[in-house]
Amino acid sequence: MLYETGIAGSDLIESVLPSAERRAKGPYAVIECFQEIPCNPCSDSCPFDAILPLEDINELPQLVPDLCTGCGICAGVCPGLAIFIIDESRGDGMATLSIPYEFLPLPQKDDLVAALDRSGAYVTDARVARVQRGRKGGTPLVTLSLPLDLVHEVRFFRAREAGDGEPLAMTGAETEDSQPMDEDAILCRCEGLTLGEVRQLIAEGYTTLDEIKRISRAGMGPCQARTCGPLIAREISRMTGIPLEEVEPSAHRPPVKSLPLSFFMEDADVTT
Ligand code: SF4
Ligand code: SF4
Repeated sequence: MLYETGIAGSDLIESVLPSAERRAKGPYAVIECFQEIPCNPCSDSCPFDAILPLEDINELPQLVPDLCTGCGICAGVCPGLAIFIIDESRGDGMATLSIPYEFLPLPQKDDLVAALDRSGAYVTDARVARVQRGRKGGTPLVTLSLPLDLVHEVRFFRAREAGDGEPLAMTGAETEDSQPMDEDAILCRCEGLTLGEVRQLIAEGYTTLDEIKRISRAGMGPCQARTCGPLIAREISRMTGIPLEEVEPSAHRPPVKSLPLSFFMEDADVTT
């Protein structure tokens, strides 16, 4: 499901949740990084060694829940915005969810926002409990107060427009058709390519993943199209009418993941 839709399925999500016993004790990090992206600031930044060191830069980070204090430092440095801090221990039927948030303006404490699930569909209204500006240039964390039973469903939110004093009017799941994505939405995070730019290229006649890659570098960053590839394919399908399963995948040549230089040097004669 992850590679077809860009959205993690429940099996993956459950695999990174600490035990119910640990979750009831206090705040903890959830690392929803499932794509073997070669990076490790989460592990390097944790002052409590609660994320195991990555021996291979392509490994998935592993949390040691009993060492995690829920401080949020890792969430502020993760370039993939893949780490969330959850506190289910309040005991009043509510929970908090801290979300890395890169947009401006930041919401204010006590603002009402629309809480969204991993696909961008509306889940519930939520109140902003805290806004932490990013430390040392890191990503700000916005903490939402939510009903406990929704805290594993919500992963993003939409702020109310500036000056909009009306209550949020979303009342059901927003589908791809009923709620088009913003043109400024980033499709390729590694190369900073927006949905609007991808649409422009498709409109100009670049209608395969390889063509879009060559003209824009989409998919040539560290994640090697794991995230943007399916999203661009979906956009090609939507704009051209080509069925999604017939959109040609882009060419991948070895090495398909990052490797240390020593890997290539093993058999090399370096005596000259
Ligand atoms: S929330 Fe804090 S303690 Fe937990 S893994 Fe992240 S940096 Fe470490
Ligand atoms: S993307 Fe985030 S969670 Fe994944 S390895 Fe990099 S820093 Fe860690």
